[in-house]
Amino acid sequence: MSKLTKVLFLASEADPFIKVGGLGDVAGSLPYALQALEAGLDVRLVIPFHSAIRAEGLSLAREAVFSVPRSGGEVPAQVFRTEIHGLTVYLISGAPITDSLKVYDPTPAVDGEKYIFFSLAALELARHLDWRPDILQANDWHTAAALYQVKRSQTDPFWRGVKTVFTIHNLGYMGAEAENVLWDYNLPPIFEPLLPPWARHQPMPLGLWSADAIVAVSPSYAEEIQTPEYGYGLETFLRSRRKRISGIVNGIDYSGWNPAQDDALTANFTADSLAARPANKAALQTQFGLERDSSLPLLAMVTRMDQQKGVDIALEALRISADLPWQAILLGTGSAALEESARRLESDFPNRVSAAIRFDSKLSRQIYSGADLLLMPSRYEPCGLAQMIAMRYGALPLARATGGLRDTIADGRTGFLFTEASPSVMAATLRRALNAYQRRAHWQTMQKSAMVENFSWERSARQYADLYQTLLTKNNP
Ligand code: ADP
Repeated sequence: MSKLTKVLFLASEADPFIKVGGLGDVAGSLPYALQALEAGLDVRLVIPFHSAIRAEGLSLAREAVFSVPRSGGEVPAQVFRTEIHGLTVYLISGAPITDSLKVYDPTPAVDGEKYIFFSLAALELARHLDWRPDILQANDWHTAAALYQVKRSQTDPFWRGVKTVFTIHNLGYMGAEAENVLWDYNLPPIFEPLLPPWARHQPMPLGLWSADAIVAVSPSYAEEIQTPEYGYGLETFLRSRRKRISGIVNGIDYSGWNPAQDDALTANFTADSLAARPANKAALQTQFGLERDSSLPLLAMVTRMDQQKGVDIALEALRISADLPWQAILLGTGSAALEESARRLESDFPNRVSAAIRFDSKLSRQIYSGADLLLMPSRYEPCGLAQMIAMRYGALPLARATGGLRDTIADGRTGFLFTEASPSVMAATLRRALNAYQRRAHWQTMQKSAMVENFSWERSARQYADLYQTLLTKNNP
């Protein structure tokens, strides 16, 4: 039997243990999908034992106790092991993790201490278990220090030759809060002239500098981060590493997002039984207090109310498009100013616009299953999940052609794309979409095309497995 390839997968959060954002979805799916490929991978997931993770219901075994060196005294760590759907998961505990109540603490310095400790403890765990990974897979700034430490340890036989992969889910968060802590854990700044001085001692750039391969969560985002508009000052350095950079689109969990079996819906349906879908639209119109008219196109947003998501662009585009027939529903929470703008649109168009300012998973499912169009005019979108979910549920995305939106939506076939982040351009695209909506047979063909697209994790996992294989066969230093 050939030897298994060992993959140590580090993340700050993973569903179902704990999920705050999209990274929790990824770390809660990709390791399982990799393991399930039967590609000879032995994947172990390591996450912090956050205070918010509920231990009851988990079958935990104490796996290891050790300390992580730090100036001013070693920091004790305890590691618990559990297994979920056949995947081994390690939860790392220690004062820097348990002292904080949140996965991402409101006090930045607390997160710095937490995640540098976690990154180094994860490496220490591998050594403690004498489980030398072939691949170290880190995600975002929280686990970047592990890559840097491995890069610095190439004279150590345990770490020499271990290949490192760093996935960027959002380049905007670099871990500036960890700057001072890095010194405390004996991780000095690097001298890299292509990095701006401020970046030479922050986890994200250190991880990018150290990694054998850099993955962005979509091919377009992989290109975009090499430009000044999206590169946050790292674009020059990233361009110098372009041969190491690739893009792999995230998947969605096909068992959890399935319109044929989703309990939240009024009517379940598939691409072959679209006739059942309008019952969901009618229920949605009632729920949002809108006229129950199946012929009116129902537009929707399900989003964090954040500058990134272009909520302001969408609200303005709707105002510009007031002469056209449509209804709009908004589900979202976040910035007070954007929430207020959404409420203002609602009060200016009481018969056509209805907003639910909250986080509501069940309602989001009902929206995906009943809306005709999902609006996603993001200013930037590394990958985006909402558009993939919408497509699977037969709601066509109308989105800005950026990052993962550009890579997952085919304009005119599975959705509608526009380039410029402006309300008038979005409004023109809305007009185009509403024309298409009037051609019922054409619209249904588009819905079916969107529903049968393959956004499974298996597809993404195969690309990661291929990347791991390439790294292991390539004899790069
Ligand atoms: P991001 O992670 O940047 O917020 P994504 O599109 O990758 O954007 O993922 C957003 C996820 O969060 C989707 O599953 C979407 O349905 C969900 N979501 C966003 N806002 C809400 C809300 N107010 N209520 C319920 N679900 C929401």
